[in-house]
Amino acid sequence: MSKWLLNVRLETGEHLHEDGSVQTITDLFHIEIDEHGHIAQLQASNEMFSPNNAQDMQGQLALPAFKEMHNHLDKTYLSLPWKACRIVNSLEERLHFESLELSILVESCEQRASAMIEKILEHGANHIRTHVNIDPYIGLKNLEGVLAALDKYKDYVTADIIAFPQHGLLRDNVPNLLREALQNGATMLGGLDPGGIDRNIEKSLQTTLEIAQEFNVDVDIHLHDTGHLGYYTIDKWLDLVEANDFQGKTDFSHAFSLGDLTTLEQISIAKRLNEHNVAIMSTIPYDLGKYTIPPIDLLAKHGVNIHFGCDGFYDSWSPNEVGDILQKACSFAEVTRKITERELRQSLSYITNGITPLDHEGTMQWPKVGDEASFVFLRSSCSAEAIARPPKKRIMMNKGKFFN
Ligand SMILES: [Zn+2]
Repeated sequence: MSKWLLNVRLETGEHLHEDGSVQTITDLFHIEIDEHGHIAQLQASNEMFSPNNAQDMQGQLALPAFKEMHNHLDKTYLSLPWKACRIVNSLEERLHFESLELSILVESCEQRASAMIEKILEHGANHIRTHVNIDPYIGLKNLEGVLAALDKYKDYVTADIIAFPQHGLLRDNVPNLLREALQNGATMLGGLDPGGIDRNIEKSLQTTLEIAQEFNVDVDIHLHDTGHLGYYTIDKWLDLVEANDFQGKTDFSHAFSLGDLTTLEQISIAKRLNEHNVAIMSTIPYDLGKYTIPPIDLLAKHGVNIHFGCDGFYDSWSPNEVGDILQKACSFAEVTRKITERELRQSLSYITNGITPLDHEGTMQWPKVGDEASFVFLRSSCSAEAIARPPKKRIMMNKGKFFN
């Protein structure tokens, strides 16, 4: 049986004022959702209309459901007593401290991951890309916990589950553990600083490619290595992609090094990333003194797909963050000085897999009949306002089903 959402606010166009400012135009619609969770009808709001099985959305704005594209569901302390982070002097030391608590935390993995999934869904996402530690200390145990947690929320969220060699790939039996993870529920292969952690860029990348090809899965590599070390790693990986016909199946997370390059170098690598359909997953680092933000506007301008993620939050790496991807887009707009209506609403594309209600020229392009009925409802007048001033209260609907 189909159902109706009444009085949903949708963006329909824009008005260009004489002073050059732009105002988004919205209107109220009734949306019919079929039994498969797709939009069956969109009709202009009409007070006389009172179908069966209807819910009045009271003029709330609908945006496309958000995508959380870089996360670590297995690491969070959520649902456990408060704990701040320990001081460390290096990434190696941070990894050492993590390794000491892995076997203790693993017992509560499903419970902690569930708490984190709920936070992410409450903030409006219906897709999570999570990296999951596959390491010599706990093997596949975190994967089991994360899979069990995701299964409980399968009506509301889809996921990319990445077998992630957090403690290094070229050590112990890690390549075979990753293979095992890919046979047991992981859907993608991860990587981590082939230079900074594995200290053997070529071998690390080659091994990653071999495993990915063996299982025909996509790859997402954490690349914190800065400057030309990181740049060289990306360049080398693209050479391998070319030589092995592995186009369109890889992404880089963080990629801080791209921010360290000259503009000419950035343009040339952006063209290469675009050519091979490699996306960049950014967590918009606040610690700008340590890490340079990748040149997101320049990359996007050259056709590189950009996605945001909150990263792990409230864990042994960082006590901050609440898992709000809309807040992440707001921070991005703030640090890059996006202050106009068009710039603000375009920033939404980084948290919706590229979908915005209006296109660059202000023409309505979403939602359409036949689209998945996956929305975030919020009390904002338009998407630009939602990005600049994220309202706390939101309701997420995934394929016709409300979460909470
Ligand atoms: Zn990460």
